[in-house]
Amino acid sequence: MTLVFSGNDYKYQLEAVMKLFIPAERFELIYTDRAVPVSGDYAFMRKTAVKGRMLVYAVCQIGGKTSHKSAVIRDTTEDIEDTCQLMLCRLLYTVMSELTGITSGWGMLTGVRPVKRVNRLIASGLDREGVISVMKDKYLVSEKKADIAYRTASVQEYLKQGLDGRSFSLYVSIPFCPTRCSYCSFISQTVASGRKLIPDYINKLCEEITYTGKLVSELGLKLDTVYFGGGTPTSFEAPQLERIMQAVSRSFDMSGVREYTVEAGRADTITEDKLRAVKVNGCTRLSVNPQTLNDSVLEAIGRKHTAAQFYEAFELANKLGFEHINTDVIAGLPTDTPESFDRTINGLIDLSPDNITVHTLSIKRAADLNHAKGKREVLRSPAGIMVDSATEKLLTASYRPYYLYRQKNMLENLENIGWSKQGAESLYNIFIMEEIQTILAVGAGASTKLVDLKGGRLERVFNYKHPLEYIRHFDLMLEKKKEIVDFYAEKE
Ligand code: SF4
Repeated sequence: MTLVFSGNDYKYQLEAVMKLFIPAERFELIYTDRAVPVSGDYAFMRKTAVKGRMLVYAVCQIGGKTSHKSAVIRDTTEDIEDTCQLMLCRLLYTVMSELTGITSGWGMLTGVRPVKRVNRLIASGLDREGVISVMKDKYLVSEKKADIAYRTASVQEYLKQGLDGRSFSLYVSIPFCPTRCSYCSFISQTVASGRKLIPDYINKLCEEITYTGKLVSELGLKLDTVYFGGGTPTSFEAPQLERIMQAVSRSFDMSGVREYTVEAGRADTITEDKLRAVKVNGCTRLSVNPQTLNDSVLEAIGRKHTAAQFYEAFELANKLGFEHINTDVIAGLPTDTPESFDRTINGLIDLSPDNITVHTLSIKRAADLNHAKGKREVLRSPAGIMVDSATEKLLTASYRPYYLYRQKNMLENLENIGWSKQGAESLYNIFIMEEIQTILAVGAGASTKLVDLKGGRLERVFNYKHPLEYIRHFDLMLEKKKEIVDFYAEKE
């Protein structure tokens, strides 16, 4: 398909709107100030000045069907460029929606963090009705999605209060898993293929933890939350986990830590000695993730455990007395149905964990699984029905949405939502999604996010992605981490 930009350079925004309808396509791009002949499917998006006004219009042709929309904007406002860009996106969205029959609950919002936009609207003085009406009218967001974004922002409001510019969270990356799930798009290695690397990886990881601890004490920063993620951290044996966690407690002042999460992820990695090891070393929040409670779906996605093993792992975690337990599920997994997804949600609500996180499968992963399916067919999966039903059930069971984000290419342009019982929200998840606290990250694939709320700065320092690169180029990488010191020096 060809995208023609005429009189404007809104490539990034307009292409993102097109991807809401045709996610996996590579577009041919043409920039021109004139009308050009294009054959086949195309979208032509023009902005032009006419007698002190701006005329914007979008014309699209798909499969021989054509539709167009236009608008005139008075060129009197200072932010005329933003107004034209927004209007052109809205026109393009409407035309494409007419031609494809596809609508997105998030309308033409393409960003990862819709709640940030809601927060800005609240800060501008709007109440609930005001926020919902802007989300609906300006961004074509549905009432349901606007409501859930508003609820999420409201839950976050009091949790974000009193954040101090010297506090930070620590992320520890363990990018290993027992086997690879078929929908996975992360860079994680199976324990079998990476076995030889693991001892060196742990040595380097502990070294990076010690190094980061020194930086932190020189800079006078305060550790607030800790998060062990992956991969599946519990792919490692109990003594290995213990060694890494002890490196953390030796290197940092743990007295102010409000939350300590370890992702136990897959039930097939969970054993009593591992859970005891992480608990004794400070873990307060454990994540045990079934993804689905339907055994045939688990088999279809290549997770080598059953629902029964998840229940056993959950019971064990409960018995050992972790303060909070999170469970993750994914809507839209291959072979799953709305009825079976409902049973998964009901099953989890019966277990009553503090947090339930409802993810939606992303099309990148779905596409790997469903080569035979057309791209647009993937967009019409039952994931939307699953997510709507889960939302109703979780609200009825008194869970509250507390963080929400979107990834590129999610089925039906949906979202991931973390649900929580009141008072059991994960602070780390809010901080990382809303980008309101520095995250110092260690390990392969980890990325440090330096946040200066007052100065409005956000900088990132990336570690090497693969464990082998991480081990090989370790000294070079530590050198780069000096950027953390520079960031705080500039912040003074
Ligand atoms: S457990 Fe998670 S990170 Fe590991 S292979 Fe499966 S989806 Fe990927």
